[in-house]
Amino acid sequence: MKLTRRAMLKLSGTSLGGGLLLASPLSSIGSSPPKPVETDPSQKNSLFDALPVFPPGEALATDQMRITFLGTSCIPRLSQECNSVFVEVGSGDQFVFDCGTGVTAKYNAMGIPMSRMNKIFLTHLHGDHTSDLSHIYCFGPAEDRKTPLFIWGPCDSGFTYTDPLGAVRGPYTDGTRAFCERFRELHRWHTESFSFGATSYPGYEIPTQETWGLPVPLVQVADDSANDGFAIFPIELDWTKSGKETDDNVAYNNPASGVKITHFPAIHCRRGSVSYKLEWNGLSIIFSGDTKPNYEMISQAGGVDVLIHEMVMPAWDWALKNSGMSPEDPDFIKAYNYAMQVQNSSHTPQGAFGYLLSQMIPPPRLTVATHFQAADDTIASAMQSVRNHYPVGEVTFAADLMVINVSASQIIQRRAEVSAFAFYPVSPPQANTNPPKYWKYDPDHPTQPIPDPYAQIDTTDQVPAVDPITGAVNYNENGY
Ligand SMILES: [Zn+2]
Ligand SMILES: [Zn+2]
Repeated sequence: MKLTRRAMLKLSGTSLGGGLLLASPLSSIGSSPPKPVETDPSQKNSLFDALPVFPPGEALATDQMRITFLGTSCIPRLSQECNSVFVEVGSGDQFVFDCGTGVTAKYNAMGIPMSRMNKIFLTHLHGDHTSDLSHIYCFGPAEDRKTPLFIWGPCDSGFTYTDPLGAVRGPYTDGTRAFCERFRELHRWHTESFSFGATSYPGYEIPTQETWGLPVPLVQVADDSANDGFAIFPIELDWTKSGKETDDNVAYNNPASGVKITHFPAIHCRRGSVSYKLEWNGLSIIFSGDTKPNYEMISQAGGVDVLIHEMVMPAWDWALKNSGMSPEDPDFIKAYNYAMQVQNSSHTPQGAFGYLLSQMIPPPRLTVATHFQAADDTIASAMQSVRNHYPVGEVTFAADLMVINVSASQIIQRRAEVSAFAFYPVSPPQANTNPPKYWKYDPDHPTQPIPDPYAQIDTTDQVPAVDPITGAVNYNENGY
């Protein structure tokens, strides 16, 4: 089947409700010869490049909130990793929202240490929102997070499906607790192997349901000691709730820091996704995660300071970019159809994004489109679609390392300038740690277990620094 572009546009116009002004589609990237990078609008993000510079490490004023974008795309690309936002408030509390593919490199570049990434709020369990959880979990205790990981996320979907032939799928244990239980065991080899070093310290007070205002008691997923860096505490949220009954959607409510985080249902791919709203000091932000346009969002987002909302590029344009085919190719329709299925099961099209904003009363002070491959060409198309519905109102497009400071009087957007050669952020060894799990007895220090990096390996076949028979020096033991 061969579809002309005109027919395609008509088709996509219908799916958007018809009659709406559509943004012009992008040029046929797949069939165009490559252009020089500096003139190719698909190879730069001028909007982001024009932002003033944010110097990482800048102190946060006590009356401000700071939002840092570490991953802003639905697919990993060198310019944009997959989905993660780090939110800090002036009272000192901080949160990770989603942690998709590749974002740890950006956290490192920003100088955000593992110890500040111990509270992770997952909107749903898609890999582009969870992939880097492995790195954060595995290497936290090797760095400065020698305390448990706390992971918020939706409970089981509870969904059962009967297909047209009567076959049944589900229900599955597919919620955050089941995810964390399996995740913890999945990493057993790693966690044991890295337990030659200290993974906890004495005196750490495990938070309680009361101190953090949690909807459920804190119950860890495995038999790690509860203060251990490899312990995981999932906090499951009833994703059906949206606060219609008092406080039935509170995920976190900490009087010490003044931060309250609530959740409400998103419509995305499968039942059991949520969006989060964070309120502090009279300021509020929403992080949508992935969602189709929905009424709950319209009612929750009215009057927020910053709305961070997903948006998907038009299926036609995505199919062009992804398939590399020209629209005349007989197989292009397959790429287009798949892109439409992704949109229809899961996401907010550009025009719908603009329409949502037009319905929020009052509109957000700033809206940031994310989960979106941002470059000059996609941004121009998206802005046109958005402005068809939302002619004024602050809208921008997320890029990795974008930093937004929010206060009652102003919202400032900047771009962090960082090194591409960062190590982990400086984290001096904690002076007072508990003994490691793999240790040896030292008669000179009988009360002090000594870490034993050899405990789990067989060194029989190791090439020694000094040959035990001839005494010849094979190599310098200090590494040089
Ligand atoms: Zn996603
Ligand atoms: Zn998703």
